[in-house]
Amino acid sequence: MEVLRSILSCFSSSSRTRARPGAQSHHGLWSSRASDKNKSMVEQLQRYGVIRSTKVAEVMEAIDRGLFVPLGGTPYHDSPMPIGYNATISAPHMHAACLELLEKNLQPGMRALDVGSGTGYLTACFALMVGPEGRAVGVEHIPELVATSIENIKKSAAAPQLNDGSLSIHVADGREGWPELAPYDAIHVGAAAPQIPEALIQQLKPGGRMVIPVGTVFQELKVVDKKLDGTVGLRDETSVQYVPLTSKESQLHAR
Ligand code: SAH
Repeated sequence: MEVLRSILSCFSSSSRTRARPGAQSHHGLWSSRASDKNKSMVEQLQRYGVIRSTKVAEVMEAIDRGLFVPLGGTPYHDSPMPIGYNATISAPHMHAACLELLEKNLQPGMRALDVGSGTGYLTACFALMVGPEGRAVGVEHIPELVATSIENIKKSAAAPQLNDGSLSIHVADGREGWPELAPYDAIHVGAAAPQIPEALIQQLKPGGRMVIPVGTVFQELKVVDKKLDGTVGLRDETSVQYVPLTSKESQLHAR
């Protein structure tokens, strides 16, 4: 994973893609370029073995990352990007790795919670994975990011699921989870917790899986599996660097 990360951080799909010939309007031209770039990004992640599942590839192709990265950013480059409020959208390889780790718990009809949903990118991917019979719930404590994430999702392939209610994003402290729709088959935490919040373990279904970065200066991406008898298994996947899972005040005043 470490090696992959350094390889992946070197690639940008931007120089390898061209607009499809025949695109007419300005909007059409932009759209075809964007989807080509998104597709090459996914293909690169497949080539490097970060994406192995066909379903994960399809979902990442369907949700154009360019709709979620603020203007001026390089959405198809494999690196995190600032999104304001001392937050970042994670790098594509981290999103892909988390989707791969959670795939079995993101089957159609299942429930997924995305804590620290930020731009809404991964929540939208979760929604496509679990489908309209499932539930994908994002929780984010910065109201402005929640508003933007909903606008982003409205432009994406996950828009119908916002309308049918199988995808929702809420302003709340994610350390408390989202008890209304618990228990969850999959929980993803997009910010590093000093320790795993008890509420999140409680809201994990037996047989469910949580992926959460834990630590302060040194962080590990932990995979938490709740067994059918309710006991919890834990392993480290890789070392990572995420923004902290903290209070809104500490985040906004961080320097
Ligand atoms: N996964 C998202 C965002 C990652 S950045 C993406 O890729 O777009 C981490 C996010 O966690 C930020 O948006 C930050 O505002 C949010 N966050 C941090 N602490 C939080 C808390 N206690 N409750 C809810 N959200 C939190």
